[in-house]
Amino acid sequence: YRSEKVNLREVILSSIDFSIPDSRKKDIKVYKRLRSDIFTYGDKNALQQVFINLIINAVEAMNNRGRIDIKLTKNGNYAAISIKDYGPGIPEKMVEEIFDPFFTTKEKGTGLGLSVVSRIVKDHHGKIEVHSKEGEGTEFIIKLPLMED
Ligand code: ADP
Ligand code: MG
Repeated sequence: YRSEKVNLREVILSSIDFSIPDSRKKDIKVYKRLRSDIFTYGDKNALQQVFINLIINAVEAMNNRGRIDIKLTKNGNYAAISIKDYGPGIPEKMVEEIFDPFFTTKEKGTGLGLSVVSRIVKDHHGKIEVHSKEGEGTEFIIKLPLMED
């Protein structure tokens, strides 16, 4: 891992571009609220992998069409990144398992995305929250320590 000052706003914007190429933009509406530059400390590429995994999961959950809300805010001494979809949600008793390596409900899934996400977030001294309601959607919130200048 590298250890550097990371501009979360920039990393999130590039993760969105990577996860939702132009060819898909007409089917997936991304509502962004990333008003200010917010910094954390860590590995930019690893953090980009976190957001890419979560955005791709959201897109896949909605069968490649729908709406995703992405928000970056400051919350005490944490940066909070919320990625919210309006897909089918996750059954409550499954929420524990989704972070296990190789757990997947997809025909061609690897089940590795969220296990990588949770390892990277942990290595950055962060936290993950999941709020999901069947039939309504899913929100992942990543909390990372703020870098004070
Ligand atoms: P994969 O995407 O290869 O299945 P992940 O580790 O990324 O592996 O995700 C594991 C499982 O968690 C998925 O197969 C899916 O069942 C569930 N999941 C993850 N994100 C979402 C989401 N946004 N909405 C609904 N289910 C999700
Ligand atoms: Mg995945």
